[in-house]
Amino acid sequence: MRTTVMGLGKMGRALAAALVDRGHDTTVWNRTPGRLRDAPFTHAVTHAATAEDAVAASDVVVLCLLDFESVVAVLDGVDLRNRTIVNLTTATPAEAAKLSALLTERGADYVDGGIMAIPSMIGTPAAVVLYSGSEQAFRRSESALQAFGEARYLGAAPGMAALNDIAMLTGMYGMFGGFVHAAALVRTEGVAVVEFTETLLVPWLRALFPALVDMAGQIDSGDYTAKESDLSMQVANDGISVVSRAQGVSSELSDPLFALMRRRVEQGFGGDDFPSVVELLS
Ligand code: NDP
Repeated sequence: MRTTVMGLGKMGRALAAALVDRGHDTTVWNRTPGRLRDAPFTHAVTHAATAEDAVAASDVVVLCLLDFESVVAVLDGVDLRNRTIVNLTTATPAEAAKLSALLTERGADYVDGGIMAIPSMIGTPAAVVLYSGSEQAFRRSESALQAFGEARYLGAAPGMAALNDIAMLTGMYGMFGGFVHAAALVRTEGVAVVEFTETLLVPWLRALFPALVDMAGQIDSGDYTAKESDLSMQVANDGISVVSRAQGVSSELSDPLFALMRRRVEQGFGGDDFPSVVELLS
């Protein structure tokens, strides 16, 4: 498939390399020329001199630029008729919807994407890229997009990929926050954080992961009746802030969560399971 990659930063270079690896006829363009000078595949791609040439070269045009504004600037005045624009530049759902409206009006089919990977993961089975927007355009481009990793289509609303991307990052940062707090606790007693993480924390989190799906079921159904560990019990035993203080560690990461749990109990939902807290966020 003839594909174009616009934007040869760290991620754009990885995307172009993955397309070349899979044998796609690839054209590249970057605002600052010469970005691929040191890349082993630079001779395997066509270097477009202008954004117009880059878009004209292929039916599927992948953009991976810094932000929404750079995408608007790069495509300004370019003929987009009959082109599939796959925008892998990180965007908000509102920006994705705006771009979709703007570019569709100019004759393009728009697919928005969220990359759930770092550049070194691109082209490996560990990479997942979320897509939303024109389903027809996604299906037409799918065989090329699979070069990047697993291609997940999430629906016609252009902002769905961006929303799910941010939701996944939210879950990730929650886990990272818990991790650094745990690390701060154990190192107060000279415990090696790697040993704690490998032998205790990771196995514990792994054992808990399946419970997330059960919690998700409670949120979908709205039935939070506690099965084993209700909120009243959990806030009564807020050892995290007590022990953190005693060890000289800040509990500023976990305090807001426990404040929500306590508020839910005060509202009369002490017999609920933890996911009931979602009602305070919505
Ligand atoms: P880089 O900073 O390495 O590259 C940025 C790219 O955007 C360069 O090609 C740069 O061109 C171009 N650019 C910036 N401003 C403009 C502009 N006004 N007009 C034209 N081109 C412009 O970033 P990454 O490659 O790491 O990231 C690119 C996108 O991928 C971002 O949206 C990022 O959020 C997303 N992403 C990145 C991940 C990562 O781990 N790197 C992970 C997941 C998503 P020039 O060379 O001329 O400066």
